[in-house]
Order: sequence, then structure tokens, then C-alpha cells
Amino acid sequence: MFLNTNRYLYFNFHLLTLCSYLKKMAKINIITLGCSKNLVDSENLATQINGENIEFAFDEFNFDSDTVVINTCGFIADAKEESVNTILEFAEAKKNGKIKNLYVIGCLSERYKEELSKDIPEVDKYFGVNDMKEILKQLNADYKKELLGERVISTPSHFAYLKISEGCDRTCAFCAIPLIRGKHVSVPFDLLVSQAKSLAKKGVKELILIAQDLSYYGLDIYKKQKLPELAEKLSEIKGLEIIRLHYAYPANFPEDVLKVMREKKNVAKYIDIPFQHISDSVLRRMRRGHNRKQTIDLIKKIRQEVPGIAIRTTLLVGFPGETEKDFEELKDFVKEMRFDRLGVFTYSEEENTYGGDNYEDDVPDEVKQARADEIMEIQQQISYEINRQKIGKIFNVIIDKETGEYYIGRTEFDSPEVDNEVFVNKNKPLKTGNIYEVKITGADTFELYGEITD
Ligand code: SF4
Repeated sequence: MFLNTNRYLYFNFHLLTLCSYLKKMAKINIITLGCSKNLVDSENLATQINGENIEFAFDEFNFDSDTVVINTCGFIADAKEESVNTILEFAEAKKNGKIKNLYVIGCLSERYKEELSKDIPEVDKYFGVNDMKEILKQLNADYKKELLGERVISTPSHFAYLKISEGCDRTCAFCAIPLIRGKHVSVPFDLLVSQAKSLAKKGVKELILIAQDLSYYGLDIYKKQKLPELAEKLSEIKGLEIIRLHYAYPANFPEDVLKVMREKKNVAKYIDIPFQHISDSVLRRMRRGHNRKQTIDLIKKIRQEVPGIAIRTTLLVGFPGETEKDFEELKDFVKEMRFDRLGVFTYSEEENTYGGDNYEDDVPDEVKQARADEIMEIQQQISYEINRQKIGKIFNVIIDKETGEYYIGRTEFDSPEVDNEVFVNKNKPLKTGNIYEVKITGADTFELYGEITD
């Protein structure tokens, strides 16, 4: 048998084109917006798709894939705007024939499916936050229960998030999450342990526990708080060198977890616990279930039980009725408590929330923003002073990446993407994902500088 070269080339060229077309057709691009909980949802979707040997990618803002799934955020105004703009960008790409299929999932879609379907009809289908099976069917993939213990991760391979529950039973007046994500549902203990083991086997060294409300973990299915037990169990998993807790809730905080933090070397002396405010009248109207005294007592308890712990918190300014006096009290609180890490949001009125239905959004936007700026100014000075105190000390630093001049990493007191980074001199070749002893030689507001100790 002989082939006419031209015909052979012609045939192969078209075969190649056909293959890349089919490859592009098959490839699914998952765009994730919003919080780390949304990221885990995208990873769970990718895990199922991967189980079908369908190629996928995360966050590619290009048009290499024919099918795009946008996992949206619907928490507050800014996040909603970013989600709508991203949908519009890919809707435009679809109109121009750059992509074929466009699906939208996540919180914004759950909350505004009808409005979005009318306003942006280019999207093939909108899904809610509990529609995994329906999305997979749309993507020609079957849902495989046996994959629940597995997870494809989109983060650098040395750290991963572990979402320990979904939804929330709290009633914070400013928050739409319970409306979107529903009631609190804990992930079964053993399933979390097997997910963590599978991630550790894949080389994950840092596991970040997340939820809407970490403190509530276990109360629904085990009728008791199981966070301390979970942290202890995870600390026994070989390969996990840092276990970090995010999104704890102050009221009814499971204080036994502090003992685990104190005793288990690989449970980071770090807690992310949003307090939102400190004025009793604001906390009452926010329906937070904790008051000024309880908040301060808890902070003191945390610092007593775990000496040297880093506390990250989040505050909300401009809540309806927040007076100048309330704000002064909040500023004093920030100055007095000297949090290691702090983020601040401005109140965004959300329909169907208790605040949106019952309070007038009476603090002008420019006042909200001015208050947020003032809090961050105070915090920057505190962060700078705390960082300066680290000069000369030695810390374990996990290396996240390499840049031209430095390796960049974090101490156990810094969570990825939200906290400080350590810029490590390149006086020795280092491996991303490894943990090294670093002596701090310099400090700035949100950065530390250091070198490897011999
Ligand atoms: S704890 Fe409050 S702020 Fe957090 S998700 Fe639940 S209702 Fe929202």
C-alpha cells in the first residue's frame, strides 16, 4: 500500500485539525470567582469531570476551551458586579463564536437565576449551588459518588482547602449566605479524614479548613462540636505539616480546639475569626449573638491558651445606624487588640436579608469608605510594628513560589493570598512547597525579608 504524499499530508493535516478541534471541544474551562469555598466547589466539579477523562482547565481567561463554566459569587455588591462582568465577557466571546458552550453556577446564579436568564440569554444554562449532578449531565459526565474522597486541586500542589461544611444556621443581619447556601450541613468526619489523607498523599503539606462557620462543625450530624476532634485527627495524618483554621465564629466558639493548637505542632497557631464589630448596639442589631464583653473575653482566652497565636479578623463598617461614637469604639478596639491580620468591609445592603428588610442603609457610601480607610490605616501601623518585632527571629517558612530575586513563602502565621509574605534571599536553592528555617532580616507593613539559616 502506498500513499500519495499530498493526500497523506492533506489527510493528516485535517486529522490533526479535527483532533485539536475535538480537544478544544472537549476541554472545559472552570472560572472561579469569590471565596475559597467556591474554589473547592470548582475543584469538586473538576474531580468529577476528570473522572470521565474529560480535559479541563482552571481560570483560563482565554478561549482555548469550547466550554466555559463560570462559578460565580453573589455575596456583596462588588463581588456581584465582578461576576456579572465576567459572564458578560464570555457571553460576548460566545456571540463572536470564540466559545461554544457557556454555563454559570455558584452563588450569583443561585440567587438571581431568573433575572440573569432574562438579562444575559447567551448563557446556555444557569445552575444553583446544589446542582452538581445536573451540571455534569450537561457536560456529558456522570456523577461518581466514589470520587467524593478524592480532589483535584487548583491551588499550588503544596496547599489545599478542606471545606468541612456547607451553609450556615447563623442569622447575621447583613449576610445573604444562608439565603444562598441554605442551612448548615457538616461533611461527615470520616469523609473529611479520607479527603485529607488523599490530599496529603498527593503532596499537600498545608491544609486550610474552611466553612461558612467552622465553629458549628458537627452540631447538626453529631449533636456536638467536633472541630477540636477533627483538628486532632488531621494532625495525625502523615505529611500534613500545617493545619490552619479559617472562618471560626465567636459565639459558642469551641474552645477545646485551643488545646489542640497548643499541643499539636502541625496545627498552626493561627485563627481566622471575624468579629465584625465591637459596639454592643451594633452587634445587637447585626444579630451576631456575641457582645463586647464576650468578644474581648474570647480574644483574651485565645491568647492565654495559645501563646504567640496570630489572630486574623474581619470587621464591617457603615452598618445601618452606626454612629460616630460606635465607630470611635471600633477604632479603639482595633488599637487595643492589635490583631495580627485584619480585613475590613463596608456594609452592602442585600435584599431579603434581615438588615435589607428592616434597616435603612443610612450611612453614606463616602462615610463608609472613609471609616474603612481609617481602620486600615490604624491596622497598617500595627502590622508594621508587629512585623518589626520579628527581625532577628527564626521562623519555619513554606515556600510558595520563586521570583527573579527572591523565593516567596509564608510562616505558620500567614495564610495564602490574604496574609503576609516572606521574601527569602536566594543564597541557597530552595524547593517550592518545602519548609525551611528562615532568619528574618527586615520587615515592612505586610512583608518580611529573610535568609535561610545554615
Ligand atoms: S456566620 Fe454570619 S456572616 Fe458568616 S456566613 Fe453565617 S450568616 Fe453569614
